[in-house]
Amino acid sequence: MTVLFLAHTECDNSLHKSALEVLTAAKALADGLGAELAVGLIGADVAEAAGTIGGCNAKLYAVSGADFADGRYASDLAAAEAIAKACSAEIVVAPATSRFSRALPGLAVRLGGRVDTHLSGLSVEDGKPVAKRWFYRQRMEGTLTRDERPWVLTLDSGCAEPFEGAGAADVETLDVAVASRTRVAGMECASEDQQTIRPDAALLFVAGAGWTKKQADGATHVDVAESTILSFLDATKSSLGSSKSLVDISGEGGAVISFLTHMHQVGQTGATPRHPKGLSTCCHGEEPHVVGWRFIKERRAINLDAGCGWAQGKCDVLYVADAFAVMKKVNELLG
Ligand SMILES: Cc1cc2nc3c(=O)[nH]c(=O)nc-3n(C[C@H](O)[C@H](O)[C@H](O)COP(=O)(O)OP(=O)(O)OC[C@H]3O[C@@H](n4cnc5c(N)ncnc54)[C@H](O)[C@@H]3O)c2cc1C
Repeated sequence: MTVLFLAHTECDNSLHKSALEVLTAAKALADGLGAELAVGLIGADVAEAAGTIGGCNAKLYAVSGADFADGRYASDLAAAEAIAKACSAEIVVAPATSRFSRALPGLAVRLGGRVDTHLSGLSVEDGKPVAKRWFYRQRMEGTLTRDERPWVLTLDSGCAEPFEGAGAADVETLDVAVASRTRVAGMECASEDQQTIRPDAALLFVAGAGWTKKQADGATHVDVAESTILSFLDATKSSLGSSKSLVDISGEGGAVISFLTHMHQVGQTGATPRHPKGLSTCCHGEEPHVVGWRFIKERRAINLDAGCGWAQGKCDVLYVADAFAVMKKVNELLG
C-alpha cells in the first residue's frame, strides 16, 4: 500500500509550513499502516523543496515547469493524477490550501475514489486509517474511515508539527501535458499591511465595539481608534480580529473602523483562530465571542468595566483601563 503526500510549492519555490505539517501527518499514517510513503511535488521548480524534505525516506515524484507555477484547476489536477497513478496511491494526503481545496476533489472523482477535506488529524486504529474532523464550528470532533480507495484527504494547518529533515532527494520527474483554456495572467497578492488577518502571527489583537462608542468626553473618536489599531498592527504584525458588534456596525449606519470586515469576526458565528496569545480591547468578552478564543492560550483584555465578561475567568490578565490610553502608550514604547 502507498500513502502519497502531495504538495505544491510557493512563489519562492519553497514549501509552506502547512505542507510540512501535513508531511509529518502523512508519514506517521504511512508508518502506522506499514505502508510505503511517496511524495509528489507540483510547482515551477521543485528542486529546492525536494531538498528540504529529502530525509523523509520516501520516493519523490515531481511535475514541474511554468505551467505548474500557479494554481489552476486543470494543471493541478493533471499533475496530481499523474503522480497518484505513477505510485498507485491508495491514500493521498495534502494540505487544505485554496489551491488544493479546488483541485483535489476532482482528483478523487477522476480516480474513482473518495475525498474528505478540512481534516484536523489522521491516525491508525485497528490497522485502518482514521481521519478526524471538527463539526458544528469546532464543538464536536468526528472520526471517520472509509473502505473506498483511493481516499484523498486534505488537512487544515496547525494540526501537526512541521516536518524537519532536509537531505539529498532523488526525484522522478513526470511529463504532463496540460490542455487548458485558462491562462494564468499573474498573481496579485495583498501587501502584508493590507492583509490584517495573519494566521501565523504570534498575537491576535481583537478590537471590540467600544472603540466606536462615546468616550469620557462624550464624543466618539473612531479616527483615533483606527490610527491607534493600525500603528499597533504595523509595528507588531499581529493578526486583527473583531467582535460581532463592531463588524455589524456598518450595517447599522454607525461610524465604522474602515479596515474591518466580517472575515475578522471571532466567535460562535465567526472564526476560531489559533494564535499563542490574544489581546482583547474594548470588547466585552461575552460568551458567544469568547468561544472563538478556545485555542488562544494566553489571553489578556483591556476594558473599562471591571465586571466585564473577561473578568469572569475568561482571561489570564484583565487591565481595567482605557484602551485608547493603554494602546497609545504601547505604540509609543514600540516606537
Ligand atoms: C447567536 C449569537 C451569536 C453570536 N456570535 C458572535 C460571534 O461570533 N462573535 C462575537 O464577537 N459576538 C457574537 N455574538 C454577540 C455577542 O453576544 C456580543 O454582543 C458581542 O460580542 C459584543 O461585542 P463587543 O464586546 O465588541 O461590544 P459591546 O458589548 O458594546 O462592548 C463594548 C465594550 O467596550 C468597553 N469599552 C468602551 N470604551 C472603552 C475604552 N475606552 N477602553 C476599554 N474598554 C472600553 C465597554 O466597557 C464594553 O465592555 C453573538 C450573539 C448571538 C446571540
